[in-house]
Amino acid sequence: MELKKKTITNSPSETKKLGKILAKKILQKSQKTKNATVIGLKGDLGGGKTTFLQGFAKGLGLKENIVSPTFIILKRFPVKKRNFYHIDCYRIEKQKEILDLGFRKIIQSNKNIIVIEWADRIKNIMPKGAFWISFDFLSKNKREIRRPSKV
Ligand code: ADP
Ligand code: MG
Repeated sequence: MELKKKTITNSPSETKKLGKILAKKILQKSQKTKNATVIGLKGDLGGGKTTFLQGFAKGLGLKENIVSPTFIILKRFPVKKRNFYHIDCYRIEKQKEILDLGFRKIIQSNKNIIVIEWADRIKNIMPKGAFWISFDFLSKNKREIRRPSKV
């Protein structure tokens, strides 16, 4: 998987495009790995995590639009013989809430692609091989999207 160390996007559609590129890369890579592909998103509210995910879902070939779930923490979308999971930790208080949803099992299957918003809130249970991306609000339409050196 690859994504430039740091990119500044100037519009929501540029951010969606980055998500789309990452999704396509993930689909290309063969399912040689034993475990799931887990992507952790972190950073400012309004930083573009959900926007990025909308492009990501499109890149996977999903027809549904991704929204910020108000009460739902986890949503599964079957796509191309795989499962795409959208998890949002914004409203959780304890990481146990995520474990109770079967998180440990979900991250064990290479059929699963999991993208987690506010993943830094469940840092301790994130798998070692997770791919992290952080989002910083720069100005109205500018966001800095990068691979953090430390989570
Ligand atoms: P988060 O999920 O990180 O809280 P959202 O993706 O829900 O953030 O919200 C980002 C908001 O900022 C959206 O309303 C989007 O239209 C707006 N926006 C403006 N410029 C950008 C940009 N360059 N990238 C992403 N979103 C942007
Ligand atoms: Mg969001």
